[in-house]
Amino acid sequence: TVIIYRTMRANILIVEDESSILELISLNLHQAGFNPIRAISAEYANNLVKETIPDLIVLDWMLPGMDGIEFAKRLRANSATKSIPIIMLTAKSDEDNKIKGLNVGTDDYLTKPFSPRELVARIKALLRRRSPELVNEPIIFEGLVLDPSSHKVQANNKNINIGPTEFKLLHFFMKNTERVFNRNQILDKIWGNKSVIDDRTVDVHIKRLRESLNHSGHDKLIQTVRGAGYRFSKD
Ligand code: CA
Repeated sequence: TVIIYRTMRANILIVEDESSILELISLNLHQAGFNPIRAISAEYANNLVKETIPDLIVLDWMLPGMDGIEFAKRLRANSATKSIPIIMLTAKSDEDNKIKGLNVGTDDYLTKPFSPRELVARIKALLRRRSPELVNEPIIFEGLVLDPSSHKVQANNKNINIGPTEFKLLHFFMKNTERVFNRNQILDKIWGNKSVIDDRTVDVHIKRLRESLNHSGHDKLIQTVRGAGYRFSKD
């Protein structure tokens, strides 16, 4: 059985013809908790975008064939892609000035050489505005801290051992506190609607998650609502 996990990672399309820069950006975005998608040309990126709309695009200006400006214009002219945030990479600061004048509708730009940390910060700032759930910042609730980028959970400042499925379950609960979800809804959110897992699987993983949280007493946050499902709540 192939289990399809619904990923919470933001898909970031990187369009860059210099492979060393492409790899460097890709590695740093991966480490920051994003899902990097690499394209070595705007033409290739254009095909990828037809398949899946990315959450953000890091776009080099100087590309062989279609350049970054032209690609940005195309994206902005299409209703399906016009609102994708774009960070443009330029080689010189005078290009930055040109880019402002061209008014191609990019959301931000960075001059090479730039620090990967700066790029990650800019990406987070843009995503925070557009889709805050994709930024992967730690979630804190009642002494529990879940860090989506490092996949670590702490209870009262102590690390907790937690399996990958229980982590996803806890992540889902912590983003949706005080709401009741039935087993089917939880299955769909954690395993995806293509899964062929029966709904008792949810109970098994809820049990394991409670065991992981038991030592600090946080297991009580996972409440069974009779005839309805589960709720994550402090009350
Ligand atoms: Ca280039």
